[in-house]
Amino acid sequence: MLTARLVIGLAMTVVLLGIAGARLRYLWRLGSAAQPIEPGRRTSTGEIAKAELVEVVAQRKLFQWTGAGLAHAAVFWGFCVLLLTIVEGFGSLFTPTFQLPVIGNWPALGFFEDLFALLCVAAIVAFTIIRIRQSPRTEGRKSRFFGSHLGPAWFVLFMIFNVVWTLLIARGAQINAQEVNTTDRLPFLRGAFASQWFASLLEPLGRHTNEILETVFLLLALAVLLGFTVFVTYSKHLHILLSLPNVGLARRPRALGALLPVYSSGKEVDFEDPGEDDLMGVGKVEDFTWKGLLDFGTCTECGRCQSQCPAWNTGKPLSPKVLMMTLRDHALAKAPYLTASEEARAGLTPEQQAVATLPLVGPTGYAVEDPLAAYTASGPVAVIDPDVLWSCTTCGACVEQCPVDIEHVDHIVDMRRHQVLMESAFPEEASVMLNNLEHAADPWGRGASHRLDWAESLDFEVRVFGAAGEERIPDDVDYLFWVGCAGALDETAMRTTRAVATLLHEASVEFMVLGDGEACTGDPARRMGHEFLFQMLAQQNVETLNTAGARRIVVTCAHCFNTLANEYPQVGGHYEVVHHSTLLARLVAEGRLTPVAEVSSSVTYHDPCYLGRHNRIFSAPREVLGAVPGLRLTELPRNRERSFCCGAGGARMWMDENLGQRINVVRTDEALSVRPDVIAAACPFCITMLGDGVAQRQVEGTAAAGIEVVDIADVLLRSIRPDLTTDPVTTQGQQP
Ligand code: SF4
Ligand code: SF4
Repeated sequence: MLTARLVIGLAMTVVLLGIAGARLRYLWRLGSAAQPIEPGRRTSTGEIAKAELVEVVAQRKLFQWTGAGLAHAAVFWGFCVLLLTIVEGFGSLFTPTFQLPVIGNWPALGFFEDLFALLCVAAIVAFTIIRIRQSPRTEGRKSRFFGSHLGPAWFVLFMIFNVVWTLLIARGAQINAQEVNTTDRLPFLRGAFASQWFASLLEPLGRHTNEILETVFLLLALAVLLGFTVFVTYSKHLHILLSLPNVGLARRPRALGALLPVYSSGKEVDFEDPGEDDLMGVGKVEDFTWKGLLDFGTCTECGRCQSQCPAWNTGKPLSPKVLMMTLRDHALAKAPYLTASEEARAGLTPEQQAVATLPLVGPTGYAVEDPLAAYTASGPVAVIDPDVLWSCTTCGACVEQCPVDIEHVDHIVDMRRHQVLMESAFPEEASVMLNNLEHAADPWGRGASHRLDWAESLDFEVRVFGAAGEERIPDDVDYLFWVGCAGALDETAMRTTRAVATLLHEASVEFMVLGDGEACTGDPARRMGHEFLFQMLAQQNVETLNTAGARRIVVTCAHCFNTLANEYPQVGGHYEVVHHSTLLARLVAEGRLTPVAEVSSSVTYHDPCYLGRHNRIFSAPREVLGAVPGLRLTELPRNRERSFCCGAGGARMWMDENLGQRINVVRTDEALSVRPDVIAAACPFCITMLGDGVAQRQVEGTAAAGIEVVDIADVLLRSIRPDLTTDPVTTQGQQP
């Protein structure tokens, strides 16, 4: 019998591993058809090892969701420990009394193997409860599993359960099947409490029957495990194999910060002299890098990203999860074409030929309410609907949540780039903003001559670079104050600019502004996908800043902050950039600003995505507000990393929002739910969006008159210079 079990076990292993290996080779060839990765990803072994330890071994992101995180950790760690029992199982094919070298003598080994086997079963029960309670059938779009492949997920839970119980029975029978006390010959089984319990159940059947049971269940356990391995290579559970390389190669385990320049064949595209064959973004699935395809294949369909996405949660057709699944399914559908030689392509079936020519982005014809129809629609006319692509606010909530470090925003922007640069296909209303940027260097088209209007009503003089004939920023200037387009040209944001300037003046911080020397940083153009325009504006600004010798820059706009600090180094601009919330918190802490007057208001703070999630500035704005006497700070239900977008990012500020609910109104309602007198933010775009939301609710009569939406600097100023806060508070934001 031992020989038969060895032969059957080995034959099974060779056949099933062969099938899995062939599938992996096929996937490797598919990845090879994609673009090479851009330079600058994690390359040092130390960095990769740290990422694997934190994200994979310690399951950092999964633990952000306590229940599901614990269950996943139990299965993950359980499977790692169970791998030892698998090795023991294969060993016993050759030697019935096989044990692992060195640790095989420890009863603790058997104890932990059985403990983690039972933890796996407990986790399967927990997953079952979670999946039933959050079923899309009962929760609809609110379920994070809406759109996931549910059948395979249940099958995998069933398979994991099968691996555990077959192994435990095999080990129980193994204990009874030996002539002498097995625990003397296999000391690790002394601690295997669950296996011993099975052994006590099976003992009355006698040694011979237990011998048969040991063989049958050992082969069954190995068959289930090997079958599971094959299934993994054909299913979304490919993440079990792919998450290790995906996490190791991720550029950003958290929300993004900087977008990358446009790369083609692994090299940055030179927009002044582009090559003839240069790719401008992603127009076909094979235009993604192989890391992009790895992202799509690694998606676990857990729906954490979807549950946080402002677009999805306000009824738009974009779900970052469904987008990753769609791209993966399309890449797999196109794989026969992509992996075939030129001659072989001619022999593909008509369906395979049709998939190969399917446009990546275009009207799909399926209902906005039912993005999943894309999978089932017969003869779709495109893979991704433009409404999906243009619904993204680039808020980064998806990247922040994703447990396997998928970089959704980069993929969305890369597809936008192709649409804008190659197809000139983008929401029509955004063309006004792009035109204004091109001709007036600001999104409103007001022009440089108005960039100092904000300073006219101040009771001190603002130093303007070049006004006194200086060619370099003088040494006595502590900061160059980057005012930004909104700060200089939008009535509501000008109020913040004046507040910050006054506070710097009060703290004796010497600052200077560029006045008409400033141009838009290019953030809205870049998020739209118009990289050429971004490069133009960025190079113009960097030249101005470098010529002026700028070193330290303070900025009030979260988007300008992100671009200046994280993206200008890509075009030769290296500065120490500080957001005004950080600087004001520091000045208060140093005693250079002392809030004295009571502001007896209830204030809630909205974390701007580009300040908080993208740049991890969470404490400074709260420190500023916390320093104001009398102020009562109430947190929003979704705050810090889980803050809900105001709806302005990703150039959405300049696009109509015709689908679903308005994001700014949803966020405003959340803010109003904590009954504040003041909603504070630290970004002019958030203030405009939330101001619009409050104004709408006031008109509808669901928000009290007098609720203000202001910058944190404005609140601080009330406590430091109460004599100045006579500016009318505007809750009516200015839409372009
Ligand atoms: S960046 Fe924000 S809006 Fe865009 S897909 Fe991710 S969560 Fe949704
Ligand atoms: S993209 Fe990430 S967070 Fe979203 S479903 Fe896939 S694995 Fe989960």
